[in-house]
Amino acid sequence: MGKLSPDLSEKAIDILSKNTDSKLITHLNACVHCGLCGTSCLFYKKMQDPKFIPGKKVDLVASIYRRYCTFTGKVAPHLSHARELTDELVEEMVDSLYGACSMCGRCVKHCSIGVDIPFVVRTGRRMLAAMGYVPATLQSTVDAAINTGNNMGIAEDEFVDTIQWMEEDLQDEVGDEKACIPLNQEGRDMLYTVNPREPKFFPLSIAAAAKIFYAAGESWTLSSKMYDVTNYGYFSGNDAEATAIAQRMFDEVHKLGCKTLVLGECGHGSRALRWESPNYLKEKPDFEMITIVELIEQYIKSGRIKLDKTLNKKKYTIHDPCNLVRNGGLYNSLRFVVKEAVPELIEMDPYGSDNFCCGGGGGLLAMSEFNERRLKVGEIKAEQIRATGADVVISPCHNCVDQLTQINHTYKLGVEIKSVAEIVADALVIG
Ligand code: SF4
Ligand code: SF4
Repeated sequence: MGKLSPDLSEKAIDILSKNTDSKLITHLNACVHCGLCGTSCLFYKKMQDPKFIPGKKVDLVASIYRRYCTFTGKVAPHLSHARELTDELVEEMVDSLYGACSMCGRCVKHCSIGVDIPFVVRTGRRMLAAMGYVPATLQSTVDAAINTGNNMGIAEDEFVDTIQWMEEDLQDEVGDEKACIPLNQEGRDMLYTVNPREPKFFPLSIAAAAKIFYAAGESWTLSSKMYDVTNYGYFSGNDAEATAIAQRMFDEVHKLGCKTLVLGECGHGSRALRWESPNYLKEKPDFEMITIVELIEQYIKSGRIKLDKTLNKKKYTIHDPCNLVRNGGLYNSLRFVVKEAVPELIEMDPYGSDNFCCGGGGGLLAMSEFNERRLKVGEIKAEQIRATGADVVISPCHNCVDQLTQINHTYKLGVEIKSVAEIVADALVIG
């Protein structure tokens, strides 16, 4: 880590001192250091290091605010626990705010006052981004998205090949040689998006979604250039890059003339596009946004697709992605769809909006320097899964699917990990 120059410090402090958002000031001043949030956080619960208590993460940012933006902090910093922005503090911030927070929001529910801890953590990340301290691994993920249109740097012809291969798979599956996965079709109702991990590692989940669209008779398309639902600028804290990534997706919807943007199975991507991008872009979208889970719910309720849950024969549990369930309100839609698609659902303890993060959120999956810690905190999820006795874990987020796959391997759980589209596609009654 390079030496901190006064110019860089000023950029970070400006984020606090030139801030006109009363929400930030309120949340920086609200923590009463009661520590009740401690065991709600998977990092503190697993590592038992006091620096990982959520309130301590808030205090890293709040102590800088007190030092540079309050009278007492300026004249007598020791009286208000105000801290100078030094190399040492920057190092602590990188470790705690990038490497020990998945921005899952569980602590907010357990905080006696309701301090929005992930919001403060992201403010700290914005400060670090302004100084150029985004971990190189996370930054390279953002750079890949900006330079190639998707965060894994998949070449367009490679993506098109995968889609054609999945199209053949779909035709065999439904016994219809006219079944297709449309690419770059203008004027369709829906533009579908995916997490680049799907074409790279889990292409069958794209075929599963295509089978559902086929059964519903949907008017839809994928874009071969702009299919990436993720936005790692949300996690890096660089708002300009988060805005650029969001803007390109809005432009693609307009270019193809679609009425609805369907958010593929990705928690943070859905959140960044649906809830954060209107703020980044300072405009209300002139098209609808809906997650694939809600769309499937509509298909089932309106009779556009029919499911036979007896076609799925195992025992199932759900891992609730933080950004879709706790922070996105998808609890009822997700339970409705899964219960229509499987015969036996066993809930984790806790579950729903109190569920633990899998450990892979907040950009941690992209930051290999924290791999050991990420898998260690993932043991909480492993224990939750093992206790259900389920054979299959369903999760509507491909970041979670990736972390769950690694947890499955590390802790020898012997379960299958599936997306919602895969479970629904397996239960579809075609024709
Ligand atoms: S947002 Fe999640 S990971 Fe971050 S401090 Fe809160 S509970 Fe811990
Ligand atoms: S529970 Fe809330 S008020 Fe108490 S230490 Fe945690 S963040 Fe601060």
